[in-house]
Amino acid sequence: MPELPEMETYKTLLNQKIDGHPITSILINREKSINVKPDDFINRVQNQEIKAIERRAKHLLFHLENGYVLLLHLMLGGLMFYGKEEEKPDRTVQIQLSFGDQHLYFIGLRLGYLHLLSQEEVEQELTDLGPEPLDVNFSLDTFLSLIEDRRGRIKTTLVNQEFLSGIGNCYSDEIAWHSQLLPDRKMNELNDNQKVQLYQSIRFVLQQATQYGGYMSMALFKGDTKTGSYNKKMYVYDREGEECQRCGAAIIKEELSSRKTFYCKECQT
Ligand SMILES: [Zn+2]
Repeated sequence: MPELPEMETYKTLLNQKIDGHPITSILINREKSINVKPDDFINRVQNQEIKAIERRAKHLLFHLENGYVLLLHLMLGGLMFYGKEEEKPDRTVQIQLSFGDQHLYFIGLRLGYLHLLSQEEVEQELTDLGPEPLDVNFSLDTFLSLIEDRRGRIKTTLVNQEFLSGIGNCYSDEIAWHSQLLPDRKMNELNDNQKVQLYQSIRFVLQQATQYGGYMSMALFKGDTKTGSYNKKMYVYDREGEECQRCGAAIIKEELSSRKTFYCKECQT
C-alpha cells in the first residue's frame, strides 16, 4: 500500500501536470469507488479547475475551484497513471479524469476510493490522524511526548495512523532497521538514546524515500524516472534472504501482529 513517500511523490509530480488545469470530462467505471451518484459526481467535478493538490497521511486531496475536494486513498493495489489514451497501461481503469487529451487514470481501486467531499467533511474524515512526521513542527520534543505513554511494539505503533500519519508496513520496517532496533521492541522499554535514534530514523528514512520517489512499481507517466526509485535503495523490506547492508547477515521475514515484517536479527537489537 502506498505510504507517505509514494503519495508525496504523486503529489509533486501531479502538481506539475494538472495544477490549474480544468477537468474536462470524467469516466466512472466502478461506482463503488466513489461516494455519491455518478451524475452528482460529474455535475460537481466536471469543468472544475484543480486549485491545489495536498497530501495528508496516505491521502491525496484534490482541491477544486468550487470548494469541493476529491479525497483519494489508494489502499492496497491502487495506483495512478497520467497520459494519453495510447500510453495507458493495459489495466482496468475504475475512474478517469480527463484534462483535454491527457487523462489521469485510477487503477486497482478495490478498497481504494476517490470521494467527493466538502472541506468540512474532509476535515471530519481526517480528524483522527496523528502528526505528519516530515512537518517542520514535528520536533524531537513532540515525538518524545507522543511516545510517553506508548506500550506497544515499534512496528505496530509506527503503522498506527492515529499515532503518526503516513507510515505503513514497508517504512516501519525500514525505520526499525535504520534505527538498529527490532520491530517488536516495546516503545516504553527503549532508552533515551534509542528514542532519539528512532525519531531521527523516522525523519531520515521518509525524507530519503521521498527524495527517491518511493517504491511504486509503475511510472506515473511516460518518461517518469522518479517514481519507484527507492525500490533499489530499500534496506530490508521485501528482501528476505538477501544480505543486510550493515552486517551481511540474511534478512529475515516474519509475521508480527499478522503483518509481514522484515529485519536483521544480527544488527537490530
Ligand atoms: Zn544486519
